[in-house]
Amino acid sequence: MLNGIGCSNGYAIGKAEVIKGEPVISHQKGRTDPEKELSKYIAAVRLFEQRIKELSERLDGEDKDILIWQTYILKDPYMDAEINRQIMSGHSAERAIIAACEMYSKVLMMSPSELIRQRTADIDDVRNTMLELMSNEKTPVQWSENVVLIADTLTPSMTLGLDKKHVCAVAAETGGITSHPAILARSMGIPAVLSVEGITDIISSGDTVIVDGTNGSIIPAPDEKTIEEYQAKIEEYRRRQQAMAEYAAKPTVTASGEKIVLYANIVDPEEAEQAKALGCDGIGLFRTEFMFMDRQFPPGENEQLAIYKKAALIMGDRPVIIRTLDIGADKIPPCLETNGRLDPHSDVRGIRYSLKNIELFKVQLRALMRASAFGYIRILLPMIDTPDEIREVRKIIRDIGEDFKNRGIDFNENITVGAMAETPAACLTADLIAAEADFISIGTNDLTQFIMAANREEKEMRKLCRASQPAVQRAIAHIIKTADAAGKPVGICGEAAANLSLLPGFLEYGAKRFSVSLSSVLDVRKTISEI
Ligand code: PEP
Ligand code: MG
Repeated sequence: MLNGIGCSNGYAIGKAEVIKGEPVISHQKGRTDPEKELSKYIAAVRLFEQRIKELSERLDGEDKDILIWQTYILKDPYMDAEINRQIMSGHSAERAIIAACEMYSKVLMMSPSELIRQRTADIDDVRNTMLELMSNEKTPVQWSENVVLIADTLTPSMTLGLDKKHVCAVAAETGGITSHPAILARSMGIPAVLSVEGITDIISSGDTVIVDGTNGSIIPAPDEKTIEEYQAKIEEYRRRQQAMAEYAAKPTVTASGEKIVLYANIVDPEEAEQAKALGCDGIGLFRTEFMFMDRQFPPGENEQLAIYKKAALIMGDRPVIIRTLDIGADKIPPCLETNGRLDPHSDVRGIRYSLKNIELFKVQLRALMRASAFGYIRILLPMIDTPDEIREVRKIIRDIGEDFKNRGIDFNENITVGAMAETPAACLTADLIAAEADFISIGTNDLTQFIMAANREEKEMRKLCRASQPAVQRAIAHIIKTADAAGKPVGICGEAAANLSLLPGFLEYGAKRFSVSLSSVLDVRKTISEI
């Protein structure tokens, strides 16, 4: 038996698929074949039109007009001629589109009209969508059923790409409870065991393995008796899940009848359906950085709008708290420029990255604000250290709002902006942050690693990097008390919110809002009802 950290509960028996090393994205170099590049471009234009058609069926008014305008940009004779010229002179279709969009943008930027100048955002959107469509030539991996994915390091994009129909569990040599693959596995409801030393050397593709996510163990080549034992455990687990289903229809209240707000953490708008079915009071944390994974170009404004709008429409009048891009050392989308590395503790990550890459940030804020016309969207800012960062974001939001008003674009003028409290600085200045933010969300994963100075991804730091540590508990209690005193709603959205043994303490500190992964919602509701 191999031991690791059980990061997502449940049991699975399957055939191993072992992946070693990161997949490499190749970049085409050398001479191109103009005919081939031209057909690639024409095929992408068709896909583009199809995508715009599909998206515009879900939109109306100004949103629809913006989309249609994007087709005009792409089919503009000047643009088309320039792309053709670039391809014929030996450039790849991708290079031709980048160059033509750049020229088009330069022309618009010369306009005296602010409105026209702002349309360059649409050109960026067109460019990114076209590049994305042309890069989608990957052949999907064909897996049979009941695959146990085993990797040295599970990247967020590997986990995101998993098809639950085929993959029944995951295991890796690195990672811990609060690492992002673990968060994603819990969200998908598949068992995960991480930090299993040497697993990729011991197990080979095709081997039968048992994954025990509840106890954190892996059984390679199990005998008949062990397989039967685990089949019984799988059945028992399924029965327990069924029994828990009754809690989906119950409100979240303590034994003494106090109402507690229970939200869900999601990474994808489809998951909002599950959150609703589980009776959640809303979405407490929509981690948007995962939308940037597994693609070569960042999603544009319209693509993001469609995603946020979908979550907002599903949740209706319940809040959907959407966190702006939060890239960090453990989640670097390949499509973003990060100088190849990010120090987990002290680099340009979270809100720092967004404020440094303003154009990218504005695309997200504009999409969020446009989506706010369709539901109860709230904006959450990651890794806030100082109130100035919130002020800076508010200024950008105000400017976008002014532009929207001039252009008659609907949005919620009173959209609220919250701050994640997940650094010692945010904790020590919780009063200053609370004065500036509309609400606070405590990110216990990062708060724990930064307070304890213990990397959350590092196996050796397991004992120190725990939210149960007194220093972290004091920090959480302090933030709750300070936000309460300032009259600002405060919630806990890190993985500790789903740690059933810590819940009584959190309630005692005065916490009334929790946001947990979908697979923990019912357990948390049941536990709260017993406190
Ligand atoms: C946290 O740090 O607790 C949090 C919720 O953010 P993430 O896990 O995405 O870093
Ligand atoms: Mg965090």
